[in-house]
Amino acid sequence: MEQVAVPISPSAGAQLAEVWARIRGRLRDEVGEVEYRSWLRQMTLSALQGDEVVIHLPTRFLRDWVRGHYGDRLQALWHAELPAVRRVEFRVLPDARTAEPVLEAVPAEARAADLPVSRTAPDRGLAEPLGRPAEARPDAKLDARGEWSAPLDPRFTFDTFVVGKPNEFAYACARRVAERPASPGFNPLFMYGGVGLGKTHLMHAVAWAIRERGDGRAPFSVAYMSAEKFMYRFIAALRSQSTMEFKESLRSVDVLLIDDLQFLIGKDNTQEEFFHTFNALVDAGKQIVVSSDKPPSDLAGIEDRLRTRLGQGMVADLHATTYELRISILQAKVVQAGVAVPPKVLEFLAHKITTNVRELEGALNRLIAHANLFGRAVTLEGAQEVLHDVLRAHDRRLTIEEIQKRVAEHYNIRLSDMSSPRRARNVARPRQVAMYLAKQLTTRSLPEIGRRFGGRDHTTVMHAVSRVAELMQQDNAFAEDVELLRRMLET
Ligand code: ADP
Ligand code: MG
Repeated sequence: MEQVAVPISPSAGAQLAEVWARIRGRLRDEVGEVEYRSWLRQMTLSALQGDEVVIHLPTRFLRDWVRGHYGDRLQALWHAELPAVRRVEFRVLPDARTAEPVLEAVPAEARAADLPVSRTAPDRGLAEPLGRPAEARPDAKLDARGEWSAPLDPRFTFDTFVVGKPNEFAYACARRVAERPASPGFNPLFMYGGVGLGKTHLMHAVAWAIRERGDGRAPFSVAYMSAEKFMYRFIAALRSQSTMEFKESLRSVDVLLIDDLQFLIGKDNTQEEFFHTFNALVDAGKQIVVSSDKPPSDLAGIEDRLRTRLGQGMVADLHATTYELRISILQAKVVQAGVAVPPKVLEFLAHKITTNVRELEGALNRLIAHANLFGRAVTLEGAQEVLHDVLRAHDRRLTIEEIQKRVAEHYNIRLSDMSSPRRARNVARPRQVAMYLAKQLTTRSLPEIGRRFGGRDHTTVMHAVSRVAELMQQDNAFAEDVELLRRMLET
């Protein structure tokens, strides 16, 4: 079918943009700034086609979330503005944020990106029973996939990998390798980073993507395994005197992914074997992907010649997560789980659990499981309770400086304003909040607190404390804000 651009004159386009801005404004008023920013900000208007409005979102999670939670409301708002509009359609367009706001029919690729990928499709790209003949293995059928490749986690795909600054380079490299295995410059692909930052996830994603190439290209055989498993298999082959088989079968794969290579440190025989496999595959134009917790240069205990080869393709690191990435990951996980978790709880988790994604996920899962078990909604209070022990690990003595810093960040003022003589409301109020929290959360006396806030008198601190308490009584949103700050600082 032909894609027909809907002709929209510039002035009509401008009008439409205005309508859209009004609708977004109304929605923002209704749901509040935080919720709006968390879920709705990334909507882009793509097209108005007859009675249907098409809105793009950059990920499938956001699309499902927005459609599920705000779909009806958006439709009503559109209908109120333009009575001809009867339907609002949500679609995924990965770079919707940067896309030109072209008002035309949605391109075919955007729709293709929207189709769910079947995980149960026959394994076109599987390494067919390699090694020993099938009859030697009673579980051959069951094990056809697992013989060489360890099972792949169905959750670890490119779709479910949330991309942010710390991992975008590794992600781009992984995608590139999945699309065009063994391209010059990308072989081997060596990905490294700390625990729980997504190395295994990306490796599985590459393997899935290559297995599922469905556009008529020749199937690839893919073998994924940990370095540890590689070693065990090699040792088993040595014992059963089947090393030839081991070598041949492994060398017949098109793409070999070895996870956690650091495991081979000090295991000389296995390294040797891996080195030969590695060379044979690369020389035959096959792709190797390796992950490790360190860059090749830091892999002490790995033979020099192997280390050199490992660094000869593309080396990509996964950096520690940022707050933004943690929020995006949590949002994605919440949508996947199909559970309503208030944005404040997600912010709380992202502030508190900064170590790695696995812990972050674990904490969120515990909250959800707990809420399900007791048939309760997930709340900030509940979160703090359930995660008590996780959070206690991060526990330490709070200082007034930390309070000032966090409060200044929260209200977007300068840290120096905490001790400046300025009395403008937009700095005075946050300063009072910080004083209040300092009184609540530390054992400092009023005069001591006053001194840390630019040498203020203790009566000023006293006034601030009672003023904040009073405001919290009167203003729910303000109270929630202070409460959130307190929880973040406290545990
Ligand atoms: P590593 O192998 O680096 O130790 P994993 O790949 O096992 O880490 O990741 C740990 C957990 O965190 C997994 O459940 C994974 O899905 C999740 N995870 C890590 N990074 C991301 C990300 N960017 N987006 C979504 N999930 C992630
Ligand atoms: Mg791993």
